[in-house]
Parts: sequence; structure tokens; C-alpha cells
Amino acid sequence: MAHADANIVVLGAGVVGLTTALLLSKIPNYRVTVVAKHMPGDYDIEYASPWAGANFLPVGAPGSLLAKLEERTWPELQRLASSVPEAAIHFQNTVVQNRSKDVGSAVGTWFAELLRTDPWWQSLVPDFRVLPKQTLPQGIDSATAFTSVCINTAVYLPWLVGQCLAHGTLFRRGDVAHVADAAALHASGRPAAVVVNCTGLGALKLGGVADKAMFPGRGQIVIVRNDPGVMTSTSGTDDGPDEAVYIMQRAAGGGTILGGCLQKGSWESQPDPNLANRIMKRAVELCPALTDGQGPEKLSVIRHGVGLRPMREGGPRVEKERIGGVWTVHNYGHGGYGYQSSYGTADEALRLVQEVLGAAKAKL
Ligand SMILES: Cc1cc2nc3c(=O)[nH]c(=O)nc-3n(C[C@H](O)[C@H](O)[C@H](O)COP(=O)(O)OP(=O)(O)OC[C@H]3O[C@@H](n4cnc5c(N)ncnc54)[C@H](O)[C@@H]3O)c2cc1C
Repeated sequence: MAHADANIVVLGAGVVGLTTALLLSKIPNYRVTVVAKHMPGDYDIEYASPWAGANFLPVGAPGSLLAKLEERTWPELQRLASSVPEAAIHFQNTVVQNRSKDVGSAVGTWFAELLRTDPWWQSLVPDFRVLPKQTLPQGIDSATAFTSVCINTAVYLPWLVGQCLAHGTLFRRGDVAHVADAAALHASGRPAAVVVNCTGLGALKLGGVADKAMFPGRGQIVIVRNDPGVMTSTSGTDDGPDEAVYIMQRAAGGGTILGGCLQKGSWESQPDPNLANRIMKRAVELCPALTDGQGPEKLSVIRHGVGLRPMREGGPRVEKERIGGVWTVHNYGHGGYGYQSSYGTADEALRLVQEVLGAAKAKL
């Protein structure tokens, strides 16, 4: 297919913006500039991507947009884990445990599809199986095991930048007040034909968008040096309906992420030390191998962290819209699933950009 020449600005350099920029930059004749307030290397409460685990644990309801985006993302994550070591993604044996009493809690609802013993994604990931009831720990009503991946975000985000640069994408810092203003920031000095809005939680305040369906889903983590030997999570805890327990070891020496919580509507940027203690205690209870059975005091802490998941009532928004005379493709609102839906959502944004450019051409 022949592609018309086009200047494109991607607004945002989180995992969604970078993946979208990468797919766009592979199209001949598309000249992509990424404009963002925060870039890989920054750690900031306004920038969710560096704080993520990150792993692939599908949560989209069957038939939903999110489920389709997750389904389209897995093959690329699998390819990267199999054959692109410098992306710092590795396969992990994964166990997900379900307690019936967590149904309806914040975490239980978020994980509802993940916790099923017959989820839509059972044939997507390798080795999916339901664990025999008699092998489950006390208090666990069902559990599944499968192979998934864990991404070292501290290496993967810069790797995405490198891939974009290699395909001709240019990067510049910018704090944009109105989405249409981004069109003037293309590195060529000429206006962009399309702005792709990948601003995450920033879409709540961004002029021309101000999407009131956006809200933060606060997550607190502890990164430790200890090796869990398995990637695992449970549907809930006995410490409150918005507290979670999950463990994943990042590839390439990235440490092990202990989580966490899903505190809807909280903007608190500082780690809560009491919650951090609960996170470490629960992680060691779930996976005693973390400290060879010696308790949480044997955890070797690298860092505490807080990130705000860019959550949206109704799920991610991947749509085109003309704002202030500028074609905009929205690609934000990926909550706690921005990595596991990244290639699907980037692909869908690319399709919309092509639609917009086709429409723009037809009008000439
Ligand atoms: C603790 C935690 C654990 C998580 N674990 C996982 C996981 O295991 N798997 C998974 O798939 N997901 C996980 N997530 C979710 C994932 O981190 C997010 O879905 C993802 O990072 C969202 O990416 P994004 O690019 O949309 O937003 P962000 O990473 O927040 O990036 C937004 C970008 O837009 C820019 N921006 C915003 N407004 C403006 C403006 N006005 N002008 C200029 N630039 C602007 C910002 O500077 C930034 O560059 C987790 C999140 C947290 C907090």
C-alpha cells in the first residue's frame, strides 16, 4: 500500500506513546515527532509507565475492546521474549490464585477475568492449566498456571526510544496546554497532519480533551533484590478491598516487584510506610521462597515506588476526533494494562491515523 507523506506528532512518551510512535515510524513517508513532558529515565507521579511491573495478565472482559487489544499484544511480547534479548522481556512461570470472598472488591473486580478457570485467553498463552483443588493452599478456592512474560520497564522504555530513533522518529520535550497546540511542535517546523494523544492521566486536564471519565488508580510497590522463582498473584488480601498481592521478577537483573494496591481516586505520590510493610509481609506469606522461609525482614529493598494508573470509566479510548481544526487520534486510558495492551492499541491508533490521512487526502 502506498502511503502519503505525513507529519505526525505523538503526544506522550509512556509505553502507549512510544509503541504507537514505533509502529507509525515503520510506515514509509510518515515523519514522527514524539513530544512529551516526561521521557524514559524520568521517575515522576505524572508518568505511570516506569512504575509498572510489568507483566501480561489479561483482564479485559470477553469481546471488549481491551480484550481485543490484549489479544493483539501477546504475539509481539512473546516474539520479543523469545528472540530480542535487549528488550529485557522474559518468560515466567505464572500462578494466579482466587479466593471467592474477593468477588466485588476493587481488586477482585479488576482481576475478574484473570481469575476465571476458563478465561477467553486460555488458548492464547502457553501451558494454561487449572491447578488441582487438593494442591491449593488453605483459603484458595481455585488457581491457574500458565506461561507469561515480565518486562523490565527500566530497560524496555529506553529500548523503545532506541527503536523509534532507528526508524527516524525525533523526540522533543514539551508541556502542552491544548492538544491542538501539539501540531505546531513537529520537528520539521511544519504543522503535523495528525496528533496522536497518548497522554495517559494527562487527558483529564489537557485542553480540548479534558476527559472527566479519567481518574487515578494508585499503585504502591516495593522493588527488592530477592528471587521469588515464580510470578504470582492472589485475588485479594485481608487488609482491605483495594489492597493486592502480586510478585514478579523483572528480566535482566531488574529486581522483583512486590505489589500492591488499587486505590481509586487517590493522587498521593508518596509511599505509605505502613502499606509498604503490609506489601512485604503479604509477599513473603504468598511466596516464602523469596526469603528462603526467613520472613520479610530478609527482603533486600532497592526502592519504594508509587504510580498512578491512568484509569478510565468505560475503558481505554482509541478514537479519532477533529479538535480546533486538528485531526486527533486519542489513545489513552489504559489503566493497569498499558503494557499488556500496548501493541494492540498502537496498531489500532495506526489504523485510525491511516483513516484520517486517507480522509484528508480525499478532501483535496
Ligand atoms: C504500580 C503499577 C503497576 C502496573 N503494572 C502493570 C502491568 O503489570 N502490566 C501492564 O500492562 N500495566 C501495568 N501498569 C499500568 C501501566 O503502567 C499503564 O497502563 C501505562 O504505563 C500507561 O501508559 P501511558 O503511555 O498511557 O501513560 P504514561 O506512562 O503516564 O505516559 C503519559 C505521557 O504523556 C505525557 N503527557 C501527559 N500530559 C502531557 C501534556 N499536557 N503535555 C506533554 N506531555 C504530556 C507524559 O509526560 C508522559 O510522557 C501498572 C501501573 C502501575 C502504577
